[in-house]
Amino acid sequence: MKTEKNNGIVYLVGAGPGDPGLITLRGVECLCRAEVVVYDYLANEQLLNFAPNEAERIYAGKIGGRHNQDQSEINRILVEKAGEGKTVVRLKGGDPFVFGRGGEECEALAEGGITFEVVPGVTAGVGAAAYAGIPLTHRDYTASVAFVTGQEGKGKDESAIDWERLSLGSGTVVFYMGITTLRRNMERLLEHGRSPQTPVALVRWGTTPEQQVLTGSLADIADRVEQAGFKPPAVVIVGEVVGLRDKLRWFDTRPLFGKKILVTRAADQAGEFCTILSERGATAIECPTIKLEEPEEWAPMDAVIKQLAGYDWLVLTSGNAVRNLFRRMETLGLDARCLAGCRVCAVGPKTAEAMAAFGIRPDLMPSDYKAEGVVAEFAKLDLTGSRILFPRADRAREIIPRELERMGAHVDSPVAYRNILPDRLPPEALFALEKRSVDCITFTSSSTVENLAGMLGGDLMVNMLKGVTVASIGPVTSRTCHELGLKVDIEPPRSTLAELTAAIERYFHAASSIGR
Ligand code: SAH
Repeated sequence: MKTEKNNGIVYLVGAGPGDPGLITLRGVECLCRAEVVVYDYLANEQLLNFAPNEAERIYAGKIGGRHNQDQSEINRILVEKAGEGKTVVRLKGGDPFVFGRGGEECEALAEGGITFEVVPGVTAGVGAAAYAGIPLTHRDYTASVAFVTGQEGKGKDESAIDWERLSLGSGTVVFYMGITTLRRNMERLLEHGRSPQTPVALVRWGTTPEQQVLTGSLADIADRVEQAGFKPPAVVIVGEVVGLRDKLRWFDTRPLFGKKILVTRAADQAGEFCTILSERGATAIECPTIKLEEPEEWAPMDAVIKQLAGYDWLVLTSGNAVRNLFRRMETLGLDARCLAGCRVCAVGPKTAEAMAAFGIRPDLMPSDYKAEGVVAEFAKLDLTGSRILFPRADRAREIIPRELERMGAHVDSPVAYRNILPDRLPPEALFALEKRSVDCITFTSSSTVENLAGMLGGDLMVNMLKGVTVASIGPVTSRTCHELGLKVDIEPPRSTLAELTAAIERYFHAASSIGR
């Protein structure tokens, strides 16, 4: 018998400096197929969401030089897991081969006969400089840049760094791990001839919403760091190019930079609002207040699906209804052909788009994308004696079946999916509320407020939102907020997400001018 081939592999993936959008496409591909992920403190944990749920996640955290797990222990795990035939991703902050001990890990893999691939990442020096508005090279200032470890020579008398060349030969110098040793390293540059006026910037948690930048000169930066109590992780950028930051800042000047905003949302408004807020600089935390579930029993849906040929019309008013209908048809061994004899109505373009994925084009779509619009369109037809199928949500309004029956149709409306309250808030949202680090919460419909109160209990909601700015999309939602004991701070003149965002910006801008 042939023994099975061992296909284990380790991908050393650079996670980038913090902003999860800065990982490479190749890095994401590797994460998507990982069976084991071994990740670092500096790698953004959100990236773990790309890995399959069942993938084993191992934290190899090294916090500020205190090694939670010895490097040899990490090497051993990598060799062992890949040796079992597994696909392993070693997710490392920044780039694996820049001060990341990626070289050592690869040596261990090579010695263990393990196949590996290295996926580069945006290293912190490059990422943090970009997000601080500091070009590392610039034709008017410098043609070279050096990446240096700040820890080198710690505890050693002799430094392997040629300080004289570094001071005078390299235009821009970027120190990694250089906060605790800052004073000594700045002195060395001065001792070797660099001008005391040379500008210096420290970028902490670069590329993330927590980014902090401290600037000064070679002569005074160490004192400033002490005064400000500035802590790692940060890169230290030394060179004339630092002066360009005043002109080129773009990230930490965004209108909502540093603001943590909780976005309560109904299921169909997927991420859109969060994207708008993030682009304005906020940290948007999604907080779904509706969860979609299968019907409690499929029998009523199955019965109508088996008799689809007997219907004149199929009416669909949400993408969820479309998807659940077609999935169920598939489970029963059927496909779109059983809709051949019936006409199809979609409530609006989103629903039509969901149908298109299953190869169906609607025969009818109202101009007013609501239940009332559907009723108005059908009122133009003679429905006497016709049979209509309307798969719907459990808590849907009765208007469609009621009105169509009134027009003489026979309507079957089995439950295709349920809208239920999620059991709890996402951990990230709960954590932020408990830490009282949320600046603003947004409500975009009455149901988002009601459901949040339903999930937390009204009293607890009011209590947890003390001190949090409340932004409501319009008067109806605001009324629900008041009824449930919340004071509304922000309400835009018109009820759109863009106007709500603009109103939030105005509010925080005014608040910061008062504070100044
Ligand atoms: N392989 C990593 C570096 C690991 S060494 C890379 O290529 O980026 C750890 C050091 O990287 C920290 O001490 C700090 O100097 C720097 N660093 C990592 N992430 C950072 C961030 N988001 N902002 C600023 N510095 C960061």
